[in-house]
Amino acid sequence: MRDRARVVIVGGGIVGTSVAYHLTKLGWRDVILLEQGSLSGGTTWHAAGLVGQLRSSSNLTQLIRYSADLYSRLEAETGQATGWKRCGSVSVARTAERLVQLKRNASLARSYGVEAEVIGPAEAGTRYPLMRTDDLAGAVWIPGDGKANPADVTQALARGARAGGAELREKIAVTGVRVERGAVAGVETSEGPIATEILVNCAGMWARELGRMSGVTVPLHACEHMYMVTNPIGGVGPDLPVMRDADGHIYFKEEVGGLLMGGFDPWAKPWGMGGIPADFSFGTLPPDWSKFEVLMTNALQRVPALEAAPVRTLLNGPESFTPDNYFILGEAPEVRRYYVAAGFCSGGIAAAGGAGKALAEWIVGDEPPMDLWQADIRRFMPFHGNRRFLRERASEIVGVHYFVAFPNRELETGRRLRCSPMYERLQARGACFGAKMGWERANWFAPAGAAPATVYSFGRQNWFPHVAAEHRAAREAVAIFDQTSFSKFVLEGPDAEAILQRLCANDVAVAPGRLVYTALLNERGGFESDLTVTRLAEDAYFIVTGTAQTTRDFHWIKQHIVEGARAVLTDVTGAFAVLGVMGPRSRELLSRVTDADVGNAAFPFATMQEIGIGQAPVRASRITYVGELGWELYVPVEFAAGVYDTLRGAGDDLGLKDAGYYAIDSLRMEKAYRAWGRELTPDDTPLEAGLGFAVRLDTGLPFLGREALLRQKEQPLTKRLVTFVLEDPEALPLGDEPILCDGTIAGSVTSAAFGHTLGRAVAMGYVRRAEGLDAAFIESAGFELEIAGERFKARGSLKVPYDPQSLRVKA
Ligand SMILES: Cc1cc2nc3c(=O)[nH]c(=O)nc-3n(C[C@H](O)[C@H](O)[C@H](O)COP(=O)(O)OP(=O)(O)OC[C@H]3O[C@@H](n4cnc5c(N)ncnc54)[C@H](O)[C@@H]3O)c2cc1C
Repeated sequence: MRDRARVVIVGGGIVGTSVAYHLTKLGWRDVILLEQGSLSGGTTWHAAGLVGQLRSSSNLTQLIRYSADLYSRLEAETGQATGWKRCGSVSVARTAERLVQLKRNASLARSYGVEAEVIGPAEAGTRYPLMRTDDLAGAVWIPGDGKANPADVTQALARGARAGGAELREKIAVTGVRVERGAVAGVETSEGPIATEILVNCAGMWARELGRMSGVTVPLHACEHMYMVTNPIGGVGPDLPVMRDADGHIYFKEEVGGLLMGGFDPWAKPWGMGGIPADFSFGTLPPDWSKFEVLMTNALQRVPALEAAPVRTLLNGPESFTPDNYFILGEAPEVRRYYVAAGFCSGGIAAAGGAGKALAEWIVGDEPPMDLWQADIRRFMPFHGNRRFLRERASEIVGVHYFVAFPNRELETGRRLRCSPMYERLQARGACFGAKMGWERANWFAPAGAAPATVYSFGRQNWFPHVAAEHRAAREAVAIFDQTSFSKFVLEGPDAEAILQRLCANDVAVAPGRLVYTALLNERGGFESDLTVTRLAEDAYFIVTGTAQTTRDFHWIKQHIVEGARAVLTDVTGAFAVLGVMGPRSRELLSRVTDADVGNAAFPFATMQEIGIGQAPVRASRITYVGELGWELYVPVEFAAGVYDTLRGAGDDLGLKDAGYYAIDSLRMEKAYRAWGRELTPDDTPLEAGLGFAVRLDTGLPFLGREALLRQKEQPLTKRLVTFVLEDPEALPLGDEPILCDGTIAGSVTSAAFGHTLGRAVAMGYVRRAEGLDAAFIESAGFELEIAGERFKARGSLKVPYDPQSLRVKA
């Protein structure tokens, strides 16, 4: 076997072969794929082969649409059949709430360019005659969905990759990865070593263990997944659509004239706790009829003809699932040029074409080709790789496939992993917690007599009046927010300023004590992050960014510290608790507990001072994310609970109230404060986002992304972030709804919340228009948001929806 290759791909499932295929399409021929068993012998061979296009983001949906297109033409290119059939899909609703979700999905599909139609039970029955429909509330028909034969697609991709110059070898196991100076240097295999600079871990449910060999966290766990196949049934032919009955946790597909019926158990069975055997090629697990019974009962209700159909087989195959049900893609933050494409959560056949293409482009371009944050490996931290956590979470996440996707739905497993020092205190005060990046965070507070538990629905949920009261406290008096989960870094060393000046779009060469809101941009001028940078000293900066961005932003900054530069980046997230004290009476509250002068002249906006609160040292930053006078207090964790008590003890007569993240959302939406990952993504620039004021374009100083912005500035903007206020006070957008401009879909909502001061829902979203978009056009256009199929009028503007006292923030 050869001893050198430009790229080594580990794993010959549908994903590994797709990466190999697409690398060769980009002209890379020096590619070797190693498979320990046989091609497609891992999870791929026994997949059901459903290819449903709709995902929860536009870019992920585009990846799957690409898969469908690729599978439809691979046979013509390679001569190998793929079994691709565009048979369409019917998803049915048994309940009114499920129907709301399906209608929302149909709206979402349309805004992503996927044809989808809401149909009644009778029409659903026409499309799927074997189905019982008298117990249905409605359905959605997606004509472009289809099915494929997973093993055949894999062989076709393999054939295409070989024709493009890649070498695919079976019966060779990768037994180790050689890492030198933080980067891939080679692999050890059962046939000897291969030197390489690029490794792609496509090892399916083995990927976690392979990652661990080099300190790379690939958080996934295998779970059992079952389907049965019947003998031929009259009326079942290849054109029969795929059918999903999520309320019954089941799906159906035609298979050689019979029906394949499988499903997602609400609590699935984890598998492979002691590791996945290497010789599991073409392996299956023993059928578990008792676990299958719940699916079977539901299936008989939906398709009564199953009663008389002999079951040919009950297949139990393991598949890997991730903590959040999205797959894992991208360069591992731990090791340079170590790429991962794994954890496909029962969607690997649908995703493989597009994911393989995206990863190949990522490898060749050395950066993600577009915003893939939902799948990005940097959304995880090492704790996500904990085996016990994964085992519990995988069991729960399988069922999430077919949950009703209520807004704000929280998971039950993996809770209380990261708690702020105030956790018990907030709990005692009625906090209802949600989890983000492992942190327990107060979403809202239940007043005495109310239970701190969210009752899920698509309408106003039970916390609505309580969040309204928290919101009012922040607007009219003072509220205290526990924001400990913020990610926090220190960059220290003589070159710290130069490094940040190159990375930040705003000017951070400020005096110590100054605080700067800035973007971190990529070469395309898109947001890699938006964060605040506080200068602590000549050679030290304190960086605060979003809860979910710890790994991502740390990795982004670290990889731009060139070799030899004199600066060290440290993650200090766990060292500081954060208390946001916000509202017009926050100054009064603070002045009662500190000797420091917190008046506007002594403590102006966008500055930081080390002050004492009670007897504790606190780093106080004058900043706000809710649009009111306020401070974020960064408190060493060991002092935090005491500082909270001091503040609480001094504020009752000022109207001080504990407030949570739902109130923050409502407050920030009224002020049109953008959130990274929603309004700000790697595909959006500051000019499009209306944040040109936080970019130092006019200074002539270079920074990453500057050239792209200068180019963009020369043209009229064809995409802009617009704020919307809904006319109907009852309308409740939740995010992702299509935006219609004069009757035509022009974008989709990025965030939405009820604005309790405005008394109406507020939304933001990008609007696209080829002829350009200026303020006059936006103010006069007829905008509507489509919420679960119904259209609601909205006033669009480039301005902040609620801004009567913008000066109050600064005074
Ligand atoms: C019952 C069932 C039904 C499913 N139905 C669908 C469906 O309808 N639609 C859909 O989209 N998805 C479906 N899936 C999911 C789909 O099968 C998977 O997501 C997909 O096959 C994953 O492909 P992969 O290439 O990542 O993994 P795999 O196919 O498992 O490939 C990984 C390969 O890596 C090899 N490998 C591992 N370690 C090493 C090593 N150290 N050295 C060399 N080789 C190594 C393994 O031998 C294996 O062949 C289903 C899954 C199951 C279990």
